[in-house]
Amino acid sequence: MTMPYRVSSQHVTYVFGPQIRPVLEVPPQAVIVCETLDAASGRIRTQEDALTLSYPPEQGNPATGPIAVRGAQPGQTLAVRIVAIALGPCGCGRVKRGGIIFDELHPPAAVLTPVQDHTVAFKGLTFPARPMLGVIGTAPAGEAVPTFYPGPHGGNLDINAVRPGATVYLPVSVPGALLALGDVHASMGDGELNGGGLDIAAEVTIEVDVRPGLPCRRPLIETDDAWSVCANGPTLPEALRMATREMTTLLATRLDLSREEAFILIGAAGDARIGQAAQLPGLDATAYLQISKTILPSVFDGTAAPGRQR
Ligand code: CA
Repeated sequence: MTMPYRVSSQHVTYVFGPQIRPVLEVPPQAVIVCETLDAASGRIRTQEDALTLSYPPEQGNPATGPIAVRGAQPGQTLAVRIVAIALGPCGCGRVKRGGIIFDELHPPAAVLTPVQDHTVAFKGLTFPARPMLGVIGTAPAGEAVPTFYPGPHGGNLDINAVRPGATVYLPVSVPGALLALGDVHASMGDGELNGGGLDIAAEVTIEVDVRPGLPCRRPLIETDDAWSVCANGPTLPEALRMATREMTTLLATRLDLSREEAFILIGAAGDARIGQAAQLPGLDATAYLQISKTILPSVFDGTAAPGRQR
């Protein structure tokens, strides 16, 4: 077996942008192990650090990379399969900057959570880890975007479907795509309602490939049984509206339906899910809309589900 490529956590970026020099170039179908720092860039080592450390949002959420994928050209799609996420030894959850009931609490507060054998220890409780990737994106063609923000390029999606086994499809806007990723959580509830989940360092193994362009202006996630369209907006309803609009286009295009028929199909079978709705100052909410593969088997051709009747 070919040895995977490796990118150390010394190679991080705090922005997605066309001017950021890639730290690695790989061919399509390469497997890459990315060491990722936690969302606080490894600066939290003690309970005291967790209680006192603060930094501007644009100095958090480091993303390992960027990685250039040879041959990826604007208009194509970058497929990133999350092969595995190996967690570091300790996660951290905090009440520090915000969260949906922040104004009702007495911050700061923090819990350091040792993680061993895929199990999280939380103040005497234990529960299974649910590793997921908060930040994954490609470079936009225009102005650089801090890794703190979500957008059409991906970025700080905080969507629980981005977990081992999933494939994330991102737009290629500049040659090589310039992929970067990070912000792993040992576990994050849907909505990430305290604004952080359990932040943790990790090693993320990915496989990258280049695909044709998609009829969708937002990142897509493929899991075993579903497709999800990612979206963001100043409020959760606005994020859901964007996800619905994009899924309507995708279904109409791929299943040969009118937009009205596609919207009715979403009403019948689309599952709206919350990514991040912590209401942190200046940060969009994220949402995603899932549709089963029994309805939409593939986004790359017009193949209809078996048994579909017109
Ligand atoms: Ca995040």
